[in-house]
Amino acid sequence: MSRETGSACKKCRSLGRKLYLKGERCYNDEKCAYRRRSYAPGQQGQFSRKGGRGLTEFAVQLREKQRVRKMYSVSERQFRQYYLKAIQRKGITSDTILQMLERRLDNVVYRLGFAFSRAHARQLVRHRHIMINHRIVDIPSCLVDVDDVIEVKEASKKNQGIRDAANIASQRLRVPAWLESNPLELKGTVLELPDREKMGLDFEAHLLVEYYSR
Ligand code: SF4
Repeated sequence: MSRETGSACKKCRSLGRKLYLKGERCYNDEKCAYRRRSYAPGQQGQFSRKGGRGLTEFAVQLREKQRVRKMYSVSERQFRQYYLKAIQRKGITSDTILQMLERRLDNVVYRLGFAFSRAHARQLVRHRHIMINHRIVDIPSCLVDVDDVIEVKEASKKNQGIRDAANIASQRLRVPAWLESNPLELKGTVLELPDREKMGLDFEAHLLVEYYSR
């Protein structure tokens, strides 16, 4: 499986928004590279077009697609698959894409406050620390469903590193209304599938659909 590489902070700077790729550092304005230098990286970065002024329609669509894709650290191939699945379902395609991304196990572990970042959550899943309904699942792209119980497996709950990470992450994160989290027990439940409002995402998601339906 392909993996996102390169400097996380450069991705935020070149795409012109915070993507929260580095955990605690992202929540500290003094440490966040995007807050300190909110222009594109590279020698000409300071002179690049701010806020997308003057970008072509295609460039605006591409940039929004890349923002969403990089925030969830999903490969281009996988992202296109989400689009292809979404157009076959009822409802607003862009909302369906975002909902599938939100339902990914790595994202849910992050949203529940058990990990610093989605990358950290993905590592917990891959290293077999996470269970869904009492069964270990090591596939980060697995989609959770209503009433699923997601928890750190019993043996890993004693792992001080995981406990410390969850302590710090859960203090800072606001768990979305579609999830319920018990950070002490490192356990959470999916109360409902997230709608656009409950996801609280400020992407212009219709641009993703426009990008793929060209
Ligand atoms: Fe992006 Fe700032 Fe986090 Fe770096 S620290 S990944 S620039 S949000």
